Amino acid sequence: MATRSEQLAAADQSYVWHPFTQMKDYNRVDPLIIERGEGVMLYDIHGRAYYDGFSSVWLNVHGHRVPELNQAITDQLALVAHSTLLGMANVPAIELAEKLIEIAPKGLKKVFYSDSGATGVEIALKMAFQYWHNKGMRGKTSFVTMNQAYHGDTIGAVSVGAIPLYHEVFRPMLFPSHVIPYPDAYRQGGPEAAAEAALSGLRLLLETRAESIAALIVEPIVQGASGIMVMPHGCLSEMAALCRKHDVLFIADEVATGFGRTGAMFACDLEEVTPDLMVVGKGLTGGYLPLAATLATDEVYGAFYADYEERKTFFHGHSYTGNPLGCAVALRSLQLMEERNLVEGVKVKANLVEQRLGPLADRRHVGDIRQKGLMVGIELVRDKVSCEPYDWKERIGVRVCLRARELGMLTRPLGNVVVFIPPLSSTEAELASMVDILSEAIISVT
Ligand code: PLP
Repeated sequence: MATRSEQLAAADQSYVWHPFTQMKDYNRVDPLIIERGEGVMLYDIHGRAYYDGFSSVWLNVHGHRVPELNQAITDQLALVAHSTLLGMANVPAIELAEKLIEIAPKGLKKVFYSDSGATGVEIALKMAFQYWHNKGMRGKTSFVTMNQAYHGDTIGAVSVGAIPLYHEVFRPMLFPSHVIPYPDAYRQGGPEAAAEAALSGLRLLLETRAESIAALIVEPIVQGASGIMVMPHGCLSEMAALCRKHDVLFIADEVATGFGRTGAMFACDLEEVTPDLMVVGKGLTGGYLPLAATLATDEVYGAFYADYEERKTFFHGHSYTGNPLGCAVALRSLQLMEERNLVEGVKVKANLVEQRLGPLADRRHVGDIRQKGLMVGIELVRDKVSCEPYDWKERIGVRVCLRARELGMLTRPLGNVVVFIPPLSSTEAELASMVDILSEAIISVT
């Protein structure tokens, strides 16, 4: 008779198709099946404990099974689990919107809900497109994105994506976007040269094509899925200024960077940038429930605000838009962030992580350690001097992460880059243990 864990593993293999996963590889190894969490730890069905070293894909804020967040959901459940936002309202959606506008970069005034980062991006793209349409500037239809950008997996988000491995196969079904260089200080001769490459690319494009461009979309300060690439200081604000100068909307995709991850509430705050549209998701609910939001300025909102007959309505919505459970837990999570001074805490914790990672920089195969707040990417290279990458077939990132898992910490690589994005609530002792596991895994595999 099969044990419960054997039954689960067999059913997983039989019925579940996992995202971003080559199932042939997955089915070769013992599956990791999580049963419960507590603080920064996750426990599998065998009772083995793991640090959640990637915040369950970059979204957990306060750890798992947080009494206050559980209570917020229970309290809301006692009232209503869901009711639509189409043409009517619910209490948590209103209260959360008010809170989001209070903490967002000044100038953002309206909140449009959805349920994942990708749908939040779709909404930003469609709003930008229709904004110009409603204003009678119907030639402004294309978008600018950055090389290696990732904005989610729906068709619009993939159209402004620029990671060939994920996006190239879908090219025939996408709308084309302009791609400008992303500043890669590691490979482009330092931060200044890298910033200039990106900015001159954008400048040239806007000087020649702005009348056909609706918006630029950017992952502010940290481009996540491309390998935790960190923008040189000043680049973001200069891009926003160029967009303003040329009448192109500026969309900040804060899905990964929002809610304290970079050491500021939003990465845009690091350069005092107010985007025209800002997308948030992931950490919005503290990592509890799927909820996202697209924030807009009054200027954008105003272009849609008209008599119905003018046909300026934004015809977009999802069944679960503004879900009360999600909004209630998001609101409580934001309150907890304030009560616990979490964003300030990230700065201190980030220093500790940086110092503890320091010795790794001398290792032969550690090419670059990139960090902003509690977002860290460690790029492993075959040759440190020439920056020659490992051949992708060597799967060096995967091997390091599997070793880290054996040592008791979960994370996922981005190609040859090992990612470390711990929950913001991690204590200094927990961070030290996680960094030690990561270091040991890198040293033992490279
Ligand atoms: N935008 C950015 C910058 C992201 O990092 C992600 C996810 O990693 C997304 C959008 C998509 O979010 P979701 O996976 O919730 O659709």
